[in-house]
Formats: sequence, structure tokens, C-alpha cells
Amino acid sequence: MSDAEKITAFVGLGSNLDQPLQHIQQAATALDQIPDTELIALSPLYQSSAIGPGEQPDYINAVAALTTSLSAHQLLHQLQSIENQQGRSRGPERWTARTLDLDLLMFGNDVINTAKLTVPHPRMTERNFVLYPLRDLAHRLNPELTLPNGQRIISLADQCKNDGISPA
Ligand code: AMP
Repeated sequence: MSDAEKITAFVGLGSNLDQPLQHIQQAATALDQIPDTELIALSPLYQSSAIGPGEQPDYINAVAALTTSLSAHQLLHQLQSIENQQGRSRGPERWTARTLDLDLLMFGNDVINTAKLTVPHPRMTERNFVLYPLRDLAHRLNPELTLPNGQRIISLADQCKNDGISPA
């Protein structure tokens, strides 16, 4: 497949355990090593409050832009292997929480709804920790970056409240 046929995909990265900054950097390197895939850009990092039960440390979040000739499902499989390789602490019972979450946010202009994969990621339009770093990448790479339904990423991010988020 020539470069012209490669798809641009956006991947959300999040980590809130162990050494989150290190996990995000390591994941970015791993993304660039996926076969038939190149990391084009990593957004600035953000720190965000955890959503979910109980007291949890803040998250470090970022978004990566990739080009790939893999299918969306092949790419998801690669993301899950990276999560598995570095995403779980080694302790036996206590540290079962995932230290790395990788979400496939967008895959070109594709709309995918299968048992394993929903793209665009269903909750991305409500999450400032996804939209803000994605907006940074849109400013750098393509200010007209748009969801398949016609919503412009920069506009969505501008409308999204900045609760619980700050530059890391
Ligand atoms: P989570 O534990 O929240 O990361 O969810 C992982 C599960 O979500 C896996 O079983 C995936 O097959 C599924 N999934 C569906 N759509 C997506 C997506 N766009 N990106 C990542 N995982 C997805």
C-alpha cells in the first residue's frame, strides 16, 4: 500500500498508575513500532481528574496521530497488545488496575460498529481529556479535522468545559 492509501488514525492515551508520564512516553514509542504504521505526532500532555469509583490518582492524557495501512480491527488488536505488555503492574493480586488505556478515537472517516469496535469512540465528544489534545493535533495537522457526522473537532473542543483538566 502506498503512503497515499494510508489511513490517518487518532489514538487516545491515558494512564493513572505507577509512573503515568513514563507509561505515556513508552506507549508513544510502542505505537511507532506497530507494523505498517507510523506515529506522526503526539499531542501535549494533560492532567485530568479520574472519572469512576473511589479515590483515584489523576490521569495523564494525550492523543497520538498515526498513519497506517492496517485495518481498524488489526490496529485495535495492536493497541490491546501494547496495553497488555505495559499496562498491568506485575504484582499478583493488588495492582490489577490498568496503567495504560489506549482508545481508537477515529480511523479516517470510517464509521465502525462491531461487537469489538465502535469508531468514532462513542464518548469522545464529551471528554475534555480527549478533545483538548485532539484539538492541539488538529491545529498542527488539519484544522478542518471533522468527525464522520460533520462535527468539527476544534469546535467540539471549544465548546467542552475545562472541568478537572490542566496542562501536565
Ligand atoms: P476499556 O477497558 O474501556 O478500554 O474497553 C476495552 C473494550 O472496548 C475492548 O473490549 C474493545 O473491544 C472495546 N472497544 C470498542 N470500541 C473501542 C474503541 N474505539 N477503542 C478501544 N476499545 C474499544
